[in-house]
Amino acid sequence: MAVPKRKTSPSRRNMRRSHDALTATQYQECPNCGELKLPHNVCASCGHYNGREVVQKTEA
Ligand SMILES: [Zn+2]
Repeated sequence: MAVPKRKTSPSRRNMRRSHDALTATQYQECPNCGELKLPHNVCASCGHYNGREVVQKTEA
């Protein structure tokens, strides 16, 4: 089995981890109903996208 020749220094380890941070999910208000939705996604509560209804909301 291949084995590292040297121990990774704390500096090297932290440089590697500098890209590992998570970012919080971004939300936008739906212009139609005001509900929070994901950008570039159809609104889950009213089915609107780009100013028109693209998904029919079925009533239970
Ligand atoms: Zn909406």
